[in-house]
Amino acid sequence: MSMSLAKRDITALPKGRHLIRVGQRPGFSAFVLRGTPGPIAVINAGTHGDEYEGPTVLRELVEMIEPRKLTGTLVIIPVLHEAAFFGGTRCHPIDGSNLARVFPGDPRGNNSARVAHLFLRKILRHADYYIDLHSGGVSYDLLPWVGFMQSGSQERDQTQARMTACFDDYWCWSSRYNPGRTISAAADAGIPAIYAEALGGGGVGPVDQTGFHRGLKNFLMRFGFLAGKMPRLKPQVMRVATSNTEAHIQLHHPAPVAGLFIRVVEPGHKVQEGGRLGEIHALGKRAPVTVRASHAGTVVSLRRQRSVAVGDALATVVALPKLPR
Ligand SMILES: [Zn+2]
Repeated sequence: MSMSLAKRDITALPKGRHLIRVGQRPGFSAFVLRGTPGPIAVINAGTHGDEYEGPTVLRELVEMIEPRKLTGTLVIIPVLHEAAFFGGTRCHPIDGSNLARVFPGDPRGNNSARVAHLFLRKILRHADYYIDLHSGGVSYDLLPWVGFMQSGSQERDQTQARMTACFDDYWCWSSRYNPGRTISAAADAGIPAIYAEALGGGGVGPVDQTGFHRGLKNFLMRFGFLAGKMPRLKPQVMRVATSNTEAHIQLHHPAPVAGLFIRVVEPGHKVQEGGRLGEIHALGKRAPVTVRASHAGTVVSLRRQRSVAVGDALATVVALPKLPR
């Protein structure tokens, strides 16, 4: 019964800051911060290997929290998919498998499926709250947001909304259920779960470093892990997805041809239906292909990597409401 053993492993640890290894190869390293008895929050980054904001902020967070001032347990995993991280790639560098598409995983599957299985069985299923930190990675620039999947449970959706509200530097996208993700595995287990998306670009921007720290600290205070007076939360632009695919940014504005993509908009820009997003110069052809917005809205994700293959997503455009007053 490895599942219950794992739970005992975590909760049998004495108060303090611990670093444990879960699995070997594949496997991952987790910091377990144990305070007085209370809920368990699992927070990870590095589900994708080319996203560095979350790993950096979580590594800082581990050192900032004094376990003796903590109520409950924090399990912090800065890098979940080590093979992708060391490959410098979003997905597994050899088989291309995406850790955010293979949940609940398979102990006899490929590297990603085995990491998913290990994470779900040993760590995630014991969480009372779950947060997964992402970013645009090296290939995309995003208008950073925080999001959750509509669960069908009003109570859980309210909890998830209270969690996303903590990340008040970001707008909030509530999306429909999509399988295979860390947060869908959490949803299947009835665990309130959110994710956050930083800008990306292969580095760590100061705005996201601040925004992630602020969101995580707000979460830890609002849900009773840390004492302290919360700042007044800023109002958040809320977008509720109207289709299953809306928040799936790998699907939108697929490149019609392969070539060099030169964008003419930036994340946060507003575009009209038919407005120019950029052009693709197919190698060996003089005339570029213009890429136009399929509908009006705000650009929330945009291809950064200039080489594109047919079908690569170039941009996501959504209608964002005005800030509530
Ligand atoms: Zn990601």
